[in-house]
Amino acid sequence: MAPRHASAPRLRHLRIRVMLRPVTAVHLTPQAARVISDELRTADSTRETGGILLGHHTDDTVIVRHAGTPGPGAIQTPTYFLRDLEHAQTTADRAYTQDRSVWIGEWHTHPSSRPVPSAQDTATYRQLLDDPELAFHSFIAVILSPRTSHWHMTAWACRNDVITRVPVHTVPEQVGYQ
Ligand SMILES: [Zn+2]
Repeated sequence: MAPRHASAPRLRHLRIRVMLRPVTAVHLTPQAARVISDELRTADSTRETGGILLGHHTDDTVIVRHAGTPGPGAIQTPTYFLRDLEHAQTTADRAYTQDRSVWIGEWHTHPSSRPVPSAQDTATYRQLLDDPELAFHSFIAVILSPRTSHWHMTAWACRNDVITRVPVHTVPEQVGYQ
């Protein structure tokens, strides 16, 4: 019995890895989209804001079920954002309890530049992807910049040394989507 027990989690891990393909689309649930739009509406728009993204990666799609807020300890300047780690951990724990959502990326604003990953963003994502303990397949970055009357949202899938822009849509909740 013992050897079979010991190997089961590893096999399961392998199976999941094989099924995942590079991300070609990001779906936001209305719940996650609402957290982002509420934060954009109420935050100081001259400074960067953001939070973590939690959900599931299935086949070639990432569904974002939960978006975090910056948290009281976040560092927010016009060109830099660093989330409040403790707040992010609380958000992650709550999401996991609710629907087994896991950390799949982050969102943040660029108040005065285009919604593309900066050199610093890229370095941060690479560091996270290189961390074997985090075991990310891909890291999803949602970046927003102000347009005349609204925020322009873009999504990026980071994997190895490649960052690809992918379409992002808000989709209704799908029951049983895992
Ligand atoms: Zn940035």
